[in-house]
Amino acid sequence: MIKIHEDKCDLCGCCVGVCPENCIDLTESRISIEHELCTDCRKCEWACPFEVFEFKNQKATLKVPA
Ligand code: SF4
Ligand code: SF4
Repeated sequence: MIKIHEDKCDLCGCCVGVCPENCIDLTESRISIEHELCTDCRKCEWACPFEVFEFKNQKATLKVPA
């Protein structure tokens, strides 16, 4: 589940083009997500320089070798 920290967004637009579902809506004053279309692919998180996107229920993927 994606959470947006709108207060961190500087409206740069870097995230919009990377979303494969085209569900990021950027206006002149705010950013929003069409949650029903979002697949939690996290490409927006990787593209955003300001940590606007946060994903809940993330599982750690780093494993210590046995
Ligand atoms: S997680 Fe993926 S599908 Fe959802 S808004 Fe970000 S880029 Fe788009
Ligand atoms: S990349 Fe980040 S700062 Fe830029 S518009 Fe998207 S959410 Fe806002």
